[in-house]
Amino acid sequence: VSALYVLATPIGNVCDISLRGLHLLGIADAVACEDTRNTSQLLQRYGLSRPLLATHEHNEREAADKIIERLRAGQRVALVSDAGTPAISDPGAKVVDAVRAAGFRVIPLPGASAAITALSAAGLTDARFHFVGFLPSKTRQRETALQELTAVQAALVFYEAPHRIVETVQSMLQVFGPQRQVVLARELTKLFEDIHRCPLGEAPAWLEQDANRQRGEFVVLLEGAPPAGDEDAEGERVLRILLEELP
Ligand code: SAM
Repeated sequence: VSALYVLATPIGNVCDISLRGLHLLGIADAVACEDTRNTSQLLQRYGLSRPLLATHEHNEREAADKIIERLRAGQRVALVSDAGTPAISDPGAKVVDAVRAAGFRVIPLPGASAAITALSAAGLTDARFHFVGFLPSKTRQRETALQELTAVQAALVFYEAPHRIVETVQSMLQVFGPQRQVVLARELTKLFEDIHRCPLGEAPAWLEQDANRQRGEFVVLLEGAPPAGDEDAEGERVLRILLEELP
């Protein structure tokens, strides 16, 4: 049926696309994509070729108008980003907003997202997670943003580029202290995939020990603050011991 199909693409391993996603790429009238070169390479990998519509952060509104014209003509339009799920630290939300406002259907085709991929293999037992995405690049702003997260009782999920990973981990150590568990998930689904977990205090030295450990794309996860209930329980336990000792 005519609709905007929001399609998740692989985050590394080209096989990580759904059968439904591949089928859609075979029949879509057009593919709206962040970078036409990147998406035509992806299509080539599957032996496909489709009309591409450049839809990136600087032209989302105008691109949305072109997409809506096609939907009016009864076409199927796929929306993809360079990697993973559109609209997650990627363009897409404005297009979806405009298409919905114009009264057309939006159909999600789920697949890879770096955040969920990292969480699934991290073994953090927090019941909840809080997606942050990219932090500010300037140290002061980054540390202020981190300060606002210290009390959050949920695993924290960050995206980071390779050239800033050491600085970011150092800021995290500064703000959260050395005890919290951190997970550095690098090059997920790729050849040099590496998922390392340690206390924050050990993370800078671990990264600096081998330059390869700073290469590639990262998801950084931080264990959340302990639930308030736990602190109360600990307080009560200590109080009970003290009371028993009192004459
Ligand atoms: N929309 C994407 C998603 O659903 O995950 C995220 C796009 S965002 C522009 C790119 C960032 O995602 C990278 O800087 C990195 O933090 C993370 N990322 C993407 N692919 C990754 C991978 N294979 N391994 C680790 N992190 C990855």
